[in-house]
Amino acid sequence: MNTIKKLECTRCKRLLPPDSKHYCCPDCQGILEVIPDYPLLKTKNLKALWTTSPRKDIWRYLPLIGVPKPEGIETLRVGNTPLYQANKLGSLLGLFHLYVKDEGLNPTQSLKDRASVVACLQAIESKKNVIACASTGNAASSLAGNAAKLGLKAVIFVPSRAPAGKLAQLLAYDALVIRVDGDYQAAFSLSEKAIAHFGWLNRNAAINPYLIEGKKTVALEIAEDFQFQVPDAIVVSVGDGCTIGGVYKGFVDLVQLGITNKIPRIIGVQAAGCNPFVRAFLSKRPLEAMAENTLADSIAVGIPRNPFKAMRAVFESGGTWLSVSDTQILDAMKLLGKTEGIFSEPAAAASIAGMIQAMEKGFIQKEDHVVCISTGNGLKDTKTALEALKRPVDLKNDFHQLLDYITENKGELLS
Ligand SMILES: *Cc1c(COP(=O)(O)O)cnc(C)c1O
Ligand SMILES: [Zn+2]
Repeated sequence: MNTIKKLECTRCKRLLPPDSKHYCCPDCQGILEVIPDYPLLKTKNLKALWTTSPRKDIWRYLPLIGVPKPEGIETLRVGNTPLYQANKLGSLLGLFHLYVKDEGLNPTQSLKDRASVVACLQAIESKKNVIACASTGNAASSLAGNAAKLGLKAVIFVPSRAPAGKLAQLLAYDALVIRVDGDYQAAFSLSEKAIAHFGWLNRNAAINPYLIEGKKTVALEIAEDFQFQVPDAIVVSVGDGCTIGGVYKGFVDLVQLGITNKIPRIIGVQAAGCNPFVRAFLSKRPLEAMAENTLADSIAVGIPRNPFKAMRAVFESGGTWLSVSDTQILDAMKLLGKTEGIFSEPAAAASIAGMIQAMEKGFIQKEDHVVCISTGNGLKDTKTALEALKRPVDLKNDFHQLLDYITENKGELLS
């Protein structure tokens, strides 16, 4: 049974069959969009299927994702990440209903797993053994891990600044890692040439329309966590724009299926040192390429590859675009760690910094139900974290020295 109706070009609206082997529109090179067969899916009572399913990973949502998953194939356990009620952080900021979706608890510690596992199933379906991508780090480590589990070979192009944690993951999963001397754009462009030449499966998320269908499962989970009463606002950091596009698509699907009745305001957050979407939004001009000047490496994307879907997500949901400085990102990272016990990488903490700014600017009210998506785990980039955090207390193995230290500096520990 095919639950996908068609692919539609986001630029010229040309329709293609769902199993079309094109990544982009053959007429205008526009990015394609997967359109589920909503009338058919409506007859399947998906909501009951999801809430009663014994399996809690993203495969509950398979009919809505639209890639075939052969019987007997076991993937890593993607999704089913916790949505925490962040009461301490919320009350500190004056928000009554703040939630954090901790995507750092996916199998390779970022939201990217939701897309990578879909790409791996596509590779199996099209009988390709090699799968490739360019990535600032997380798409790469995620592809490598999911490919390893399924016996596929991953070829990864990373920019020279990829943090050590992500690089170590890639090598542990035994990917072929091509470290390109240059930025993300350089890595992306070399990967495109190689993929075209060798015919490997393309996991570059903007280009492969089914990957957003994987990413949208984060929105399906959030809706389910809210008993299908969707929150007022979602805050998410943005690089290429696929994640935010996926969040929007998930909520659109739920409305189309008659399961929910509204789409939350989607707030896109970028780093001030690399914020092409924010600039285009404020100046009402087309996107312009920018240098990638931020320590939030996962969202340092100078030429976003999915501009249409990202801008549509913000525009159609009545959201907005914000930029946050690297200092604000690191402060948010510390705040989230100490109030909620969640350690985020800088790009993920940007959503918290963006939420704080959205409150200050009046885009979020104190009674709103707000979800920040923490897209990746802080262990990915301990170098940046250690530079931002306070130092440990260095002492000899000497109890008196310890006692003096605690008496002088940490009176609150003397219970
Ligand atoms: C990839 C990524 C993002 C942004 O996703 P895009 O699709 O590039 O916009 C945000 N945070 C983390 C941790 C990521 O890995
Ligand atoms: Zn087109």
